[in-house]
Amino acid sequence: MSETYPYNGRLSRWQEVADGLAIVGVESLDPPFAFEPGQYATLGLMGPIGRLIQRPMSISSSADRLDEYEFFIRLVPGGALTPLLWQLRVGDPINIKGPKGRFLLQDDGRRCLFVASGTGLAPFVSMIETLRGRGMSREIDLLHGVSYDHDLAWRAEMQALEREGDLPLRYAATISRPQQCPNWTGLTGRVESILEGHLDLHRLTPENATLYLCGNPEMIAAVDEIATRRRFPPDQVRKELYWPKGRSHAGAAEAGAAGVGAVEA
Ligand SMILES: Cc1cc2nc3c(=O)[nH]c(=O)nc-3n(C[C@H](O)[C@H](O)[C@H](O)COP(=O)(O)OP(=O)(O)OC[C@H]3O[C@@H](n4cnc5c(N)ncnc54)[C@H](O)[C@@H]3O)c2cc1C
Repeated sequence: MSETYPYNGRLSRWQEVADGLAIVGVESLDPPFAFEPGQYATLGLMGPIGRLIQRPMSISSSADRLDEYEFFIRLVPGGALTPLLWQLRVGDPINIKGPKGRFLLQDDGRRCLFVASGTGLAPFVSMIETLRGRGMSREIDLLHGVSYDHDLAWRAEMQALEREGDLPLRYAATISRPQQCPNWTGLTGRVESILEGHLDLHRLTPENATLYLCGNPEMIAAVDEIATRRRFPPDQVRKELYWPKGRSHAGAAEAGAAGVGAVEA
């Protein structure tokens, strides 16, 4: 990676959650930009042919902490940016631009049902952290689906928040490849497969809830279908797709309908 580009940030933290999955901190060397929880920044690194490669990444940190932006990132083997990112060391230069995006908490007085696959958890962590830091209460249900139990970042934190009961938050995690997780005793299957049971059990309806879906586009399509069948109006089904439908990278596919047998574009 070239270090001569006028980079405007530096890698400030690298926390490996599992192989190919990391919580990453980036400090801006320019005056930091403010953002709304749910928005993303664009991270950039100089590629091998001298072109800046940039990708959107949801910010997972609180909107009230601008000294370091935090991200939750999956390595996509053969991808343009993430293999370069995985070569960096803390302190290395990186580009950061932001904020962008309209995946925001709606001020509609309804319960929030967050449905995340894989790293799609990131904007929800930012929303929860921001609300908590501001002492604001909002009724939240968070469903997180991943392939393996070791991919469940923030699980202990979410369980602690659930116990504390302040927000209030209900948290459920599910894994789609339990055969490879011998110690897992929790829910299994893709996140969309636990959704209907959750809606029924907790009486979440179009009258009282708004859905927020983030991550794998196949998961989002599957949940959208359920929501449409249950007559949730489109503006109560907010979506952030991390890549175009049908274009998962087979080597890195995150939990969700495309997780198995996905093809590279
Ligand atoms: C608004 C927005 C927010 C995003 N936030 C995050 C985030 O918080 N964390 C994060 O890890 N990614 C996030 N992404 C995806 C990210 O922008 C890149 O697409 C991803 O990091 C791969 O980049 P790459 O250059 O390494 O691979 P590319 O060369 O861009 O992609 C190679 C192929 O892999 C597919 N692909 C991309 N991501 C995945 C994945 N996770 N699993 C399977 N296939 C994939 C792409 O569609 C493409 O076909 C976000 C995308 C959008 C649009």
